[in-house]
Amino acid sequence: MPLWSHLEDGVIYNNGTHDFQPSVIFISLDGVVNHDLDLSLTPHLSHIADTGTRAHWMTPSFPPITFPNHWSLVTGLYPESHGIVGNYFYDAELDDDFNYKDPSHSWDEKWWGGEPIWITAVRQGKKAGVIMWPGCSTTFDDMQPTFMVPFSDAMTFDEKTDIALDWLDLPIESRPQFIGLYVPQIDQAGHKYGPYANQTLTQLQHADTSIGRLMQGLQDRNLTHVVNLMVVSDHGMSATDASRLVYIDDILTSEELDLIWKIEMYPTLGIRPKVIPGGDSEAEVVDRLYKAFLRLWDHYGGKEKAPFQVFKREDFPLRYHFNNNTRIAPLLVLPDPGWNLVRKIDFDPDHGTRCIIQKALTSRAIFVANGPAWDNNDGAVLKPFWNVELYQVISRVLGLKPASNNGTLDGHLPLE
Ligand SMILES: [Zn+2]
Repeated sequence: MPLWSHLEDGVIYNNGTHDFQPSVIFISLDGVVNHDLDLSLTPHLSHIADTGTRAHWMTPSFPPITFPNHWSLVTGLYPESHGIVGNYFYDAELDDDFNYKDPSHSWDEKWWGGEPIWITAVRQGKKAGVIMWPGCSTTFDDMQPTFMVPFSDAMTFDEKTDIALDWLDLPIESRPQFIGLYVPQIDQAGHKYGPYANQTLTQLQHADTSIGRLMQGLQDRNLTHVVNLMVVSDHGMSATDASRLVYIDDILTSEELDLIWKIEMYPTLGIRPKVIPGGDSEAEVVDRLYKAFLRLWDHYGGKEKAPFQVFKREDFPLRYHFNNNTRIAPLLVLPDPGWNLVRKIDFDPDHGTRCIIQKALTSRAIFVANGPAWDNNDGAVLKPFWNVELYQVISRVLGLKPASNNGTLDGHLPLE
């Protein structure tokens, strides 16, 4: 059922003194798991949900890690379609490596497929402002967001919300209708201390306080019925421990380990074979490695008990939408939730129960929203949906014609 059929092209709001076009503030809290909303630590997020809506949960795209999912959130494409298939990966056609930690190189347009919502806006004559969203520094067809703040670890969430409010204070002809804002601190603390450590939950509370401050800023400007606030995460996070480790080198021989050129993902392993000129073909080396990992799988109990599965890329389960791109490594080892595959060199069992962070397949992301597009929801809960749906949702709210994407709901998120 359409949730905002009352929004039509050309609708203009007024806050009492100024006209406003439909507007969205789209905030990503990296690494916040859906369950975090039920810990009573986030009163402001709860207030958004109670006055608007929340999803039962939002399903991240595969792989459930930061760069692929931030790009899916703003393009409506699965990673196999937009090409950011990992935080780092190799492209054989380009003979080049993408690495998210190397911005000067990774912002090259050649890596980024699809059209992010801010370019859709700019292409259609509207304004967009983006603060640190992964990919926001990239130029598309000579276009960039109207306003852009590149990534910097030093900027606080409050400083980002101040920038967003400054943009809303601009005259209508300069004011961005889409504002995207990325918040890394909770994920960073989760990696350092564990997802439910005090330090991580403190960061979650800080973020909620900043959201409360932003909401106060909207209220001070009489904009709560004008601006749509949408808060999401890219993936959740869970802790695992040394009792759920599979040691690859227990079973793979050193000759077999030598066939591995690199492993590109974690906890799902994306394995690239070492292909020597004049030697075996890539397919042959992949096949040898595949058989080696099947031996490991048998050793751990096979179909009944093994806590992982082994796939050649072309056989990876279709529901993950993770086959159709040569940037995906040709051999994929998929652990069960909570499990990790390691080499002894990577993880010394004598170090005991060190906490290991896992972005599990079961990880559920958050979605909470309020504002005029969600006015009639009154705290209703949406059915779970894939994060690729949001590109069409935002396009619809802003009155934009979406570029080609993988969304299936035409911008309508059904109620539970
Ligand atoms: Zn992330």
